[in-house]
Amino acid sequence: MNSYYLWTIGCQMNTADSDRLAAALEQMGMQPMDKAADADVIVLNSCVVRQSAEDKVVSNLAWMAPLKKQRPERIVALMGCMVGPKSDELARRFPYVDVFMRPQQFEPLLEMVGDRLGVDWEGCVGPLIPARPDVTCHVPIIHGCDLMCTFCIIPYRRGRQVSRPVEEVAQEVQALAAKGVKEVTLLGQTVDAYGHDLPESPNLADLFTRLNGVDGIERIRFLTSHPKFMSQEIIQAVADLPKVCEHINLPVQAGDDGILDQMRRQYSRAEYVDLVGRIRETVPEVAINTDIIVGFPGETEEQFQQTLDLLSELRLDKVHCAAYSTRPGTTASRTLDDAIPDAEKTSRRQRVDHLQEMIQTEINAELVGSYKEILVEGRQRGKWQGRTRSNKLVFFEDEAYHQGKLVTVKIERSSPWSLQGSLAVEAKTINLRGDNYGR
Ligand code: SF4
Repeated sequence: MNSYYLWTIGCQMNTADSDRLAAALEQMGMQPMDKAADADVIVLNSCVVRQSAEDKVVSNLAWMAPLKKQRPERIVALMGCMVGPKSDELARRFPYVDVFMRPQQFEPLLEMVGDRLGVDWEGCVGPLIPARPDVTCHVPIIHGCDLMCTFCIIPYRRGRQVSRPVEEVAQEVQALAAKGVKEVTLLGQTVDAYGHDLPESPNLADLFTRLNGVDGIERIRFLTSHPKFMSQEIIQAVADLPKVCEHINLPVQAGDDGILDQMRRQYSRAEYVDLVGRIRETVPEVAINTDIIVGFPGETEEQFQQTLDLLSELRLDKVHCAAYSTRPGTTASRTLDDAIPDAEKTSRRQRVDHLQEMIQTEINAELVGSYKEILVEGRQRGKWQGRTRSNKLVFFEDEAYHQGKLVTVKIERSSPWSLQGSLAVEAKTINLRGDNYGR
């Protein structure tokens, strides 16, 4: 028993969980495999936020049955949001799965692997940071969520909010910096609610301040924020702290107050507009992304139009739009009728995507001619690839090796999705706020 295969679907939180489980398995002496058929331990890290994700997990689980039959001593594990507090029903549906683990609950698998290897897993597993992290790395700082948006399954699967103490996060970020990580993204379902559940209630601004002092880390990002918790103190910290990037992911979900009420989002359209205005006033050159759900039960054409109008008014930098799908167990699934036809939901999603594509075309075109600080993450199709502080994807060509470096790129071409440019100056000569020298 010395190899594992890990398949992950879903949000960045799931990716971070998988990275941490992989670190634990590798500390126990196991090697990663590219194919499930070659591995002694197979882990599927699941997501059920949308029906399409759950369908993919179920279809992958079906592939595990013959693999288990082929080698019965192999361990098959299902992890993540598909696993609720009780797994009896899952065990009946998938009898060949040996272990079911809720998000972040790695112990049952580590114990089983430890027993097979004849080792005490607690003795050999230390801090769970990726063995070979990239230039950028996700760091979960909150697990779970205390809000109960009516459409969302996450609080039922990930539980109540639990924040990690400031010093524990700081030590992890220091360890990542020692391994060459330059940028960390702090993760939470409501990341701006960080610390509310901790003794002395430190907040996200306090954590930013602590992490801003970690040597080797050049950039700090955070997601996902909830409008209810985005305080002026956090906004000011984004403006003031040189390493905290000017990029905020702030899901609005809908532009109509009636729908927001039914979603139980706890803010109104006017409050959201006011918040975006305050962020833009406080943080120059900030980029704001949002999430939208179309086709929520009962959403009329007029209510949907409110969402389009809001996006036209705010001209946000990026929109992730999803069609509503009922998640069994949520309040919406019990109390609202999901009667909008799929074709209509798809059409509304396409209208949002089309509008946003035009907005992004204009926003990105305005950047042509400017100079931007890029953190180079790697190469793609023969070009270097990185991101601006505001999280815009940039490509440039150059013979020299740049991975992990901050460089300055002159933006020469744009599309709705990315920017193309040429190398201008090595970044150490510019300041960390990425001042725009060209305009
Ligand atoms: S804030 Fe709402 S949508 Fe986000 S995880 Fe919590 S319940 Fe789900």
